[in-house]
Amino acid sequence: EVKKSLNFIEQIIEEDLKENYSREQLKFRFPPEPNGYLHIGHAKSICLNFGLGEKYGAPVNLRFDDTNPIKEEQEFVDSIKEDVLWLGFKWDKECYASDYFQQLYDWAVQMIRDGYAYVDSQPSAVMAEQKGTPTQPGVNSPFRSRTIEENLDLFEKMKNGETEEGVHVLRAKIDMASKNMLMRDPVMYRSLHKKHHRTGNNWMIYPLYDWAHGQSDFTEQVSHSLCTLEFVMHRELYNWFLKVIDTKDQLNPKQTEFARLNLSYTVMSKRKLAELVNKNIVSSWDDPRMPTISGLRRRGYTPASIRKFAETIGVAKRDNVIDVSLLEFCIREDLNKIAPRVMGVLDPVKLVITNYQEEKEEWLETENNPEDESAGTREIPFSKELYIEREDFKEEANRKFFRLSLGKEVRLKSAYIIKGEKVVKDENGEIIEIHCTYDSQSKSGSGTEESLRKVKGTLHWVSVKHAVEAEIRLYDRLFNVESPDTDKEKSYMEFINPDSLQIVRGYVEPGLKAAGVSEKFQFQRIGYFNVDKDTTEDKLVFNRTVALRDSWGK
Ligand code: ATP
Ligand code: MG
Ligand code: MG
Repeated sequence: EVKKSLNFIEQIIEEDLKENYSREQLKFRFPPEPNGYLHIGHAKSICLNFGLGEKYGAPVNLRFDDTNPIKEEQEFVDSIKEDVLWLGFKWDKECYASDYFQQLYDWAVQMIRDGYAYVDSQPSAVMAEQKGTPTQPGVNSPFRSRTIEENLDLFEKMKNGETEEGVHVLRAKIDMASKNMLMRDPVMYRSLHKKHHRTGNNWMIYPLYDWAHGQSDFTEQVSHSLCTLEFVMHRELYNWFLKVIDTKDQLNPKQTEFARLNLSYTVMSKRKLAELVNKNIVSSWDDPRMPTISGLRRRGYTPASIRKFAETIGVAKRDNVIDVSLLEFCIREDLNKIAPRVMGVLDPVKLVITNYQEEKEEWLETENNPEDESAGTREIPFSKELYIEREDFKEEANRKFFRLSLGKEVRLKSAYIIKGEKVVKDENGEIIEIHCTYDSQSKSGSGTEESLRKVKGTLHWVSVKHAVEAEIRLYDRLFNVESPDTDKEKSYMEFINPDSLQIVRGYVEPGLKAAGVSEKFQFQRIGYFNVDKDTTEDKLVFNRTVALRDSWGK
């Protein structure tokens, strides 16, 4: 057995187990803000935190970081829970930062009493001015020396909504000359006269991230609080807040940062994804072109493929961009194992077998999945008129064209060998029918000498009179460039690929009429497809998850 080397976070945990914590104390959390749908970057964080939980047998909380009533909604809470469960993880406790509002408030009051916090009443622009620069110390606010009584009184009024919105803030009293700008008396609370989706109008002040996050970790007794690299500078403040509140010998959580996932050809912040939805660039958060977990699910990704992707990229200490083709590789690999093979023609042209009996039909046996013997076989109908793919025929072709042309032979998958004879064109010169003859002794699997004859190409097909029409949605990358949101002059909105969705009307074999939403198939020679939720009794809709081969850039 090969022992996997530990990633740097596991190494930290192993060290901590030797010195600081017992195994029973290990606890993790995934802390989304319910202000949008989760994306593949969150999936990485979910796999990391819940993966550590599985590895160490430790609980993992799902904590909604719901401290901003302006952008948060129940719809997002519900979708987040659905996505985590779909990925195959179970949280220990479902927690809400808003459940800690009273505790946070009590701690803040204590900090005022202890001289660690004060109410500032200056306009935000003035406070920003006073912050100084990284090379220049800031200036103390004139309100920094407010009396404890005055601070307590104002803070309570703020909480009750008795002061005007936006006039006062509560700030931590730390050091206006700190080298770390975040330590220059950061704001802990702002007054906001807004209704919260869970606490209603109980609170007219709301805590800011730095104040709420570490204290929530502490309240839940999380041992390792993992976050992305942009929080490195916040760690000093995280620890300072834990130091000034009375932690009564309880465990102090430890913040550790890892590189966020960036994926090529897409954007990944909820704000930007929300803009794509609101400006109707995509149809919804779960549009199959979106890098959201719900979009990937609808596109046809499986939980296993996303977990495999997260495992493959691992955790890094430096930011980087992962090529989306790695994600596509992971789903191709999974679907290759599990997706039944079927026949579907996306750009049909009619093929007539002139020497095949008019009314005859045959049901031919074909394998469901050559990668999985247990998947068995099924029967598909064959008749005189078939659809084949338009690009699988050329009137005249060179020796490298292993498909059908006049005078040449190919095999029809699981059926017979045919030979191109003639074409019928409309008045514009477009081919409307291809006429061919078949070798009646060449049936696949019949064991005859003719059936064993080697021909260069094999085509997929669907019998015209049995075919089921389907709407097939073909997706391409949503953006034309690798890093749409790193250009200094142009917004990512300027790099939208106008051809990211193509809808075609194709034909599939009749068995697919019964396919249910989210069923996955390989259309032979084309790619992997997922039954879309827009499917109804009279209309089948498929999403192409990914093509069979990576054809990009070729
Ligand atoms: P966004 O900017 O996309 O809205 P966020 O970090 O504000 O992301 P949160 O809901 O606050 O979103 O994040 C929940 C957790 O997911 C956090 O621990 C965060 O670090 C992690 N996370 C978010 N985006 C990524 C990413 N691209 N890669 C890895 N982890 C991420
Ligand atoms: Mg956020
Ligand atoms: Mg963010």
